[in-house]
Amino acid sequence: MWKPLMSLADLFYPRLCLGCSRNLHRHENHLCWQCLHRLPRTRYHQQVDNPLERLFWGRTQVKAATSFLFFTKNGITQHLLHQLKYSGQQEVGMRLGELVGRELQNEARFSSADALIPVPLHPKKLQMRGYNQSALLAYGMSRAMHIPVAEKWLLRQSFTESQTRKGRYERWENVSEAFVCAQGSSLMNKTILLVDDVLTTGATLEACARPLQQAGASVLIATLACSLR
Ligand SMILES: [Zn+2]
Repeated sequence: MWKPLMSLADLFYPRLCLGCSRNLHRHENHLCWQCLHRLPRTRYHQQVDNPLERLFWGRTQVKAATSFLFFTKNGITQHLLHQLKYSGQQEVGMRLGELVGRELQNEARFSSADALIPVPLHPKKLQMRGYNQSALLAYGMSRAMHIPVAEKWLLRQSFTESQTRKGRYERWENVSEAFVCAQGSSLMNKTILLVDDVLTTGATLEACARPLQQAGASVLIATLACSLR
């Protein structure tokens, strides 16, 4: 059987699969082909009125919404999210974003966006983590979709406490006033694709959508993972 030659760099710095930690072949990029194949894809972008879109009904008018992967506890999605948030390797986020972008570029509802905007992290959190994981996803998506990232058009104005132990109403109250459009951003009649890592209640994305819509933009949503089925 033909085996690809390892590069010198692979010999000294073995590249490992983000999903299963096995050594990657030369043509594999962050994920081995088995892991790539077994990703729990939602394919919601191919489905009008999918569960994500229904989540926003009566809350905010979203033109289309999707998540790339289903979240399952202790599954590969959780593992990838952990790598995205805590590995400190920015290429991980770019690579995952690229995978999302490749699927969305073939869907007219998403590929017609004028700009990608990642959900902004509060500056304090940005300082702690060193990077905004949603921005990395957006830049990776941009690479695949050839749509620019307009990171500076949406700002986070107040520090919100960790959201993990709060109920839906409290979360909404906590983030509902957190985002504003930057002065001078040209959002009138633009279609904005909002990007985040995980969708749970949708409160953060709803809070981001509102100021964009008030500035005259239509909003699409894409996240790396979601727990809705
Ligand atoms: Zn693997």
